[in-house]
Amino acid sequence: MTKPSASDSQAAKPRARLYVEADLSADAQLALDKDQSHYLRSVLRAQEGQTVGLFNGRDGQWLAEIQTIGKQAVTLRAVAQTRAQEAAASIWLCFAPLKKDTTNFAVEKASEAGASRIWPVLTRFTNSERVKLERLQAVAKEAAEQCERLSLPHVEAPRRLDQLLADWPQDRPLIACAESGSQRVALLSALAELAPEGLPSSGLGLLVGPEGGFHADELALLQRLPFVTCVSLGQRILRAETAVAVALGGLQLYLEARQPPQ
Ligand code: SAM
Repeated sequence: MTKPSASDSQAAKPRARLYVEADLSADAQLALDKDQSHYLRSVLRAQEGQTVGLFNGRDGQWLAEIQTIGKQAVTLRAVAQTRAQEAAASIWLCFAPLKKDTTNFAVEKASEAGASRIWPVLTRFTNSERVKLERLQAVAKEAAEQCERLSLPHVEAPRRLDQLLADWPQDRPLIACAESGSQRVALLSALAELAPEGLPSSGLGLLVGPEGGFHADELALLQRLPFVTCVSLGQRILRAETAVAVALGGLQLYLEARQPPQ
């Protein structure tokens, strides 16, 4: 039986798309971790010879063939690169952790909408300071696998708002979604000002507050900082997790419209 060539195996739709740490190149051999092996073996009941899509954030996307389905691990052989690596847009999403499910939702939407770093930020009215980083990173990874991005957002350890702002790179504009306050501009107007040609080389940051909103002192601080632009997301008061999705969605659509024609 001849080994399926890349084109033959491309005919068989990959059974899954997985993020791996390993380097990816032609004929690279790799073993999946326990969870990924269990997923292919026991959930998808994948077979030897079938294919999966792999990405690692460095080498683009690869088609890999399942070599062995062992009790401990599933091993794969990288067969062909199907997408070249693209530079990930440098977008940092900073948001006040919410209740468990809504924090998961916010991280999942941030990952789907292209955030490169996700910063939980502790503000005066943040109602849940405990953040399970491992779980949030797993949520981000699963969303990255599903939405076919080629990079994995990094979930950072929680920072207090004043610390985050004190250490913020001055050349990276920070767009703060402010549910009130006089000096707000519409998100798209702010983007037209800050990113007229598309994402600035310094990248951008987005900040969303907690369910209880920003404290008046926090809003006053944000309005004083030269690298911060306070924006409105419209007349209605959005739930924090909705604001994450709307703000990142607005940014993605704005940037998409400035992409050079394909
Ligand atoms: N407790 C606040 C109030 O009643 O005014 C609402 C806070 S809102 C649930 C949570 C966060 O979402 C806000 O801190 C802000 O970052 C963002 N947000 C919600 N609606 C917004 C809007 N219309 N414009 C800008 N940001 C908004």
